[in-house]
Amino acid sequence: AGGFDPELARRDVPILHRTVNGRPLVWLDNGATTQKPRQVIEALAGYYSTTNSNIHRGAHTLAREATEAYEGGRAAVAGFLGAASPDSIVFTRGTTEAVNLVAQSWGRDNLGPGDEILVSTLEHHSDIVPWQLIAKERKARVVPIPLLPDGQIDQTAFADLLSFRTQLVAVSHASNVLGTVPPVKEMTALAHRYGARVLVDGAQAVAHFPVDVQDLDADFYVFSGHKLYGPTGIGALYAKPDVLEGMRPWQGGGNMIDHVDFSGSTFAPVPHRLEAGTGDLSGPVGLRAAMEWLTSFDHRAVAAYETALTQYAQQALASVPGLEVLGSAPERVAVLTFTMAGQDPSAIASWLDQDGIAVRAGHHCAQPALRFFGLESAARASLALYNTAEEVDQLVDSLMRLQEQG
Ligand code: PMP
Repeated sequence: AGGFDPELARRDVPILHRTVNGRPLVWLDNGATTQKPRQVIEALAGYYSTTNSNIHRGAHTLAREATEAYEGGRAAVAGFLGAASPDSIVFTRGTTEAVNLVAQSWGRDNLGPGDEILVSTLEHHSDIVPWQLIAKERKARVVPIPLLPDGQIDQTAFADLLSFRTQLVAVSHASNVLGTVPPVKEMTALAHRYGARVLVDGAQAVAHFPVDVQDLDADFYVFSGHKLYGPTGIGALYAKPDVLEGMRPWQGGGNMIDHVDFSGSTFAPVPHRLEAGTGDLSGPVGLRAAMEWLTSFDHRAVAAYETALTQYAQQALASVPGLEVLGSAPERVAVLTFTMAGQDPSAIASWLDQDGIAVRAGHHCAQPALRFFGLESAARASLALYNTAEEVDQLVDSLMRLQEQG
């Protein structure tokens, strides 16, 4: 399907060539984390073999080179997200830390008694709980935006919930349970009419389709490198320059200061003000390699391939007796969460594992979204650019055999 050949990607990803339980690995747990191309692995090894140093300090060659590599990663993230300047990018451990950063820094200054944070029911726990924590502290309220039966966000309800009490809207660019891609640009425009800020959780989006934060007009955009073929431990927060400028430190330490004195300290400009201590210095190097690897393929052709593969998988899964895929929103990424009559989700995952097929079972850190479908647990197959129609066939074949043996 499309103008993209998944074999081009597969040959770069060493782990896809190992076996599990005597069978070739079929990695369908990309929603949890993606596998890494050798370009990423080699970039990390190269960094530690040639460049390793702490950054922004010490007038020696390696410190300069490591700083350049780190800041080069920041510029690459800015380019990847369509941000106007690298200064709009703050490195974090991932999506979770980025949301907590916004809640603890921006939230503490901008939320007060009676204020509301509208959070979509699709959200991952990492885009719910940080808001609950800061809301409690600031006596603000977290208000869920309901879903429609097909898994889309109820836009009429959203419009009704918006008011001048709304300070923030938190919404995923793609759901990790239903794959739903909400109309984030339209939601943002509407929220802005009420003066609310919008945080977009791009954790499940960035690997699947091109993102342009300026076109979305998002105030905050967050993602994790490890879901984008990059390393764990690195992710990013994009914030609009005027918003970021006003954000207070959320952690204190080295790198984030201007001048320290026991009578009081002053702080570095953003983004450094929000990056205390020695972070994951190799992370931006690996992340940059991952973004360069992904964009080397023509992101739009990849997106078209994944869409076709997802449609193929939906149809193939529908042929399994008693199997139901959650959500039927037309705009979706390659996430297929399903139940099977008479089968416990964890038993489905264990059965598939015997065939070398990795899927996730559980609540997928999105209990409200699953509960909307009356479930506490489900199985999830999530696809990436290196997955193939043959692998989908293997999944379906294995599920058929599970149903046959009862
Ligand atoms: N948001 C979404 C939509 C996700 O899928 C995930 C990861 N499953 C997260 C946030 C959290 O990402 P991380 O654990 O990398 O911080």
